[in-house]
Amino acid sequence: MMDGQLTNRYARQILEAARQVIGPDAWAQALIDAGLERYQRALPPANPDPGMSFAEISLFCWKIRDRFGHDGPKVLRQIGHEMLRRGLEAYGWVANLIRLTTGILRSPREQVRTALQRAANVVRLETGSAPHVWWEEGSFYWENLSCPYCVGIRSPEPCCDLPAGALEGLVAWVLGKPLDAVQVVEVSCRGVQERACRYRIGWGAET
Ligand SMILES: [Zn+2]
Repeated sequence: MMDGQLTNRYARQILEAARQVIGPDAWAQALIDAGLERYQRALPPANPDPGMSFAEISLFCWKIRDRFGHDGPKVLRQIGHEMLRRGLEAYGWVANLIRLTTGILRSPREQVRTALQRAANVVRLETGSAPHVWWEEGSFYWENLSCPYCVGIRSPEPCCDLPAGALEGLVAWVLGKPLDAVQVVEVSCRGVQERACRYRIGWGAET
């Protein structure tokens, strides 16, 4: 399987979010443990050139998961929330305008569909991997056959909690709900040698 690369600006956003959530000391150690000490002094520049490999970001996430033990998945989801928050801030009023107009015109289900499809486009642009989004039996599904976050990882359980957190943040934001009103479950993961990383996304009461 060919390894992909994140754009520098995307890797930068993840690294900044991670530093914010776990603090500079744990962050520096995770970089060292993942062989990414080069980013300790200078983050990747905010440009769209390819930079950090999937295997590198996967190992970085894995080291954080390992360090925080039982809380590892939760910490990775918090990094995902922070990453999403930073992403929305970067889009600023454009994102808010989209939420406002889709909120007036569409049902919550269509709002979430639009948000997930836009997010899939961003992921394609920033990583070259192409998530699929569909609705099935009362839930949305998000599936990535070349997930960037578990390359070279052998995990006993689904381990891609960082993108799960970003999806939680996105759905909560577009619906104007608190984070804990949204459920994102990783139902299949390449980290446990399954075919794809797939998430089931729900938000309590359906439309
Ligand atoms: Zn994965």
